[in-house]
Amino acid sequence: MKKYVTPIVILAVFEAVAITLWLAKDNLFYLFNFSYIGISIALGVFLFIRKYRHARRIVQLLVGLYMLVYLGLISRENMQIEGFWYYLFTGVFEAATIHYAVAKIFGPLIFGRGWCGYACWTAMVLDFLPYKTPGQPRRKLGWIRYVTFAASLVFVAALFLARAGDMEGIMFRAFIIGNVLYYAVGIILAFAFRDNRAFCKYICPITVFLKPMSYYSLFRVKCDKEKCVSCGKCKRVCPMNVDVTDNSRKRENGTECILCMECVKNCPEEAL
Ligand code: SF4
Ligand code: SF4
Ligand code: SF4
Repeated sequence: MKKYVTPIVILAVFEAVAITLWLAKDNLFYLFNFSYIGISIALGVFLFIRKYRHARRIVQLLVGLYMLVYLGLISRENMQIEGFWYYLFTGVFEAATIHYAVAKIFGPLIFGRGWCGYACWTAMVLDFLPYKTPGQPRRKLGWIRYVTFAASLVFVAALFLARAGDMEGIMFRAFIIGNVLYYAVGIILAFAFRDNRAFCKYICPITVFLKPMSYYSLFRVKCDKEKCVSCGKCKRVCPMNVDVTDNSRKRENGTECILCMECVKNCPEEAL
């Protein structure tokens, strides 16, 4: 039973958030939303402990499709970064602002970039592409993320300054166009750089929040130096080029870790 403590704790944390927001906002949606996500993630961790090899992909599909199809397309909530700026400017702590606070700003202090490994609907598609481990060395293109981050902010600020009408309609169309662009650029880059996660490494604006916050993450993959034989397999299978054998927080690409556990699964000495 002890080995199932992690999924139980995850479920309890999500239920606490679900109940708190339900009562605070007097809206049953929050109970459903956070319970669903908590159950999906806890199920994935449970399946991982049971050594089911597709555990992470199942969570990705359960959460990613829910957010893209139900919240995005059916409920017409822009859950991308433009939606976050939009709600922030209107001063409302709703939908995208809550989502960003939990999954991408404060949550990473606990679970790092778990969002990127288990829930993101962009990576949900990119992870189906053929280059699961990078086929080329990493490039120095990370600066592009700051450009896309600034562009998203300028876009929403310009709408407010221009006092654009039908902001909700514009944000919904921005969500559709933004997603189509993300998928197109992500797929092209994956094939060009032989790396499924090239979009995450160089373009995604959300990493501007995710990287600094996940630096302090409570959950981290650590290496038992007594067991490690320096075979290098963990680095070869890592989709994000993390030097996971270095236990310091400053390890190479440490803030890129998406907690996918490929290194853990592939370590022949069970040192991770
Ligand atoms: S880096 Fe961006 S696109 Fe990649 S998984 Fe994270 S949030 Fe999604
Ligand atoms: S795969 Fe395991 S044994 Fe090999 S370098 Fe990584 S941690 Fe060490
Ligand atoms: S393989 Fe290991 S170090 Fe690399 S992203 Fe996955 S969990 Fe993190």
